[in-house]
Amino acid sequence: MKQLTRTMSIETLKKVGEIVLLQGWVDVKRDHGKITFIDLRDRTGRVQCVGVDKMSDLVEESVIELSGVVKSRPEKMVNPDMETGTVEIEVQDYKVLSKVNELPIPVNGDGYEISEEKRLKYRYLDLRRERMSKIIKLRSAYAKEIRNILYEKEFTEVETPMLTKSTKEGARDFIVPSRHNPGKFYALPQSPQQYKQLLMTAGVEKYFQFARAIRDEDLRADRGYEHTQVDLEMSFVSREDVMAVVEEIVKRAVKAVGGKLQKEEFPVFDYKEAMEKFGADKFDLRTEKEKDEGVLAFAWVINFPFFKKVDVSDAAEVADSKSGWTFTHNPFSNPIESHMKWHLKGENVDQILTTQYDLVCNGYEAGGGSIRAHLPEVVKATFRIMGYSDEEIKANVGHMLEAFELGTPPHGGIALGLDRHVMILAGEKSLKEAIAFPMTSTGRTSVMDAPGDVDPELLKELHISVKK
Ligand code: ASP
Repeated sequence: MKQLTRTMSIETLKKVGEIVLLQGWVDVKRDHGKITFIDLRDRTGRVQCVGVDKMSDLVEESVIELSGVVKSRPEKMVNPDMETGTVEIEVQDYKVLSKVNELPIPVNGDGYEISEEKRLKYRYLDLRRERMSKIIKLRSAYAKEIRNILYEKEFTEVETPMLTKSTKEGARDFIVPSRHNPGKFYALPQSPQQYKQLLMTAGVEKYFQFARAIRDEDLRADRGYEHTQVDLEMSFVSREDVMAVVEEIVKRAVKAVGGKLQKEEFPVFDYKEAMEKFGADKFDLRTEKEKDEGVLAFAWVINFPFFKKVDVSDAAEVADSKSGWTFTHNPFSNPIESHMKWHLKGENVDQILTTQYDLVCNGYEAGGGSIRAHLPEVVKATFRIMGYSDEEIKANVGHMLEAFELGTPPHGGIALGLDRHVMILAGEKSLKEAIAFPMTSTGRTSVMDAPGDVDPELLKELHISVKK
């Protein structure tokens, strides 16, 4: 049996009359007395295999290998619902490679009826179901398209550190203790924001990264602690330049994976206009019919207020601001040009608009970015409005101010929420459906049940004692 090389189920269509070796999972089994049918499943799909006086011992979802002859099915037996429905394998020999105990969750069907706890505990089984394996492939295909387009447009892919300093994206930081520096901590990146800007100082000019952003936020159905962003930054660009590039990338990638766009040109709304019209800065432009058809309706929102009053119930906002004012989106943004004077003087703070642009789709925020402050006095002015003293500004963003005095070009960028794009493309309602191993809604990891206890010795090495 071993001298045959593996044939994928989809390839059997082209191998009628040949003896093939197939490997995969027993998707379904049907016993008809002497004859046993199984559908063998691999990454390319399924194919029916027929055993006479054999295979009745096989258990669904076990891993097997089999050899047999590919036969054309008689006209009446063709299964139009199966890609390989015109053929079947007449099994000669088979072997179980991995047995199966009783399955804790079914893997056929769409799985919506199974509890989240069980689906995530057995995520590796949950991902076997057709709906989930399609989403994983869709995500990969979409990411590949975006990457290819970015390379075509001469972007350079650069990784930035995971152990870093607080990045001010308006959420709480996850912190990591330093064994070598007692009492000192790294922060996990809430985004690569500052490093990507420093890459502009470095002369990279066009940067991108599929970056993991980690934020200790209150969990919601469409939000976890980690998300993946297609993070990019460009030098010597205007707001309209960035929006045009991003729009092209998104349009091409969406179409390449079979997504349907409502409009070839994404409409642009003023924040004020959007609030008046939709009562929110993320909105759904689809008709009921378009919703049924799975259309994607993208739009831009611009001219957001730069600052807002701190929400006292939000600990991260309270910590970020010392004046009662905090940024709405990004403290490293430029205000719009006509408001630069107010910004520098700290006047009319409530009226200052930022260069921020948000991409919305079907009622969700699908991305956001801005033209950055590349002059030190603009960054200083932002933090001054937030109540920071000169010393506090230096301690927080002194490294950025220094870089901005060493030849930093004007620049701007965006981060697209990859999980959310995939969720929308797949027609799903929860971000978890777009992520291979998401967290539960109570913040526990899939399969491996973290957070958990650690060895007391480890804590000692880290100079940490936990108060009970
Ligand atoms: N750093 C921002 C974010 O993660 C995106 C950006 O402004 O590029 O939301």
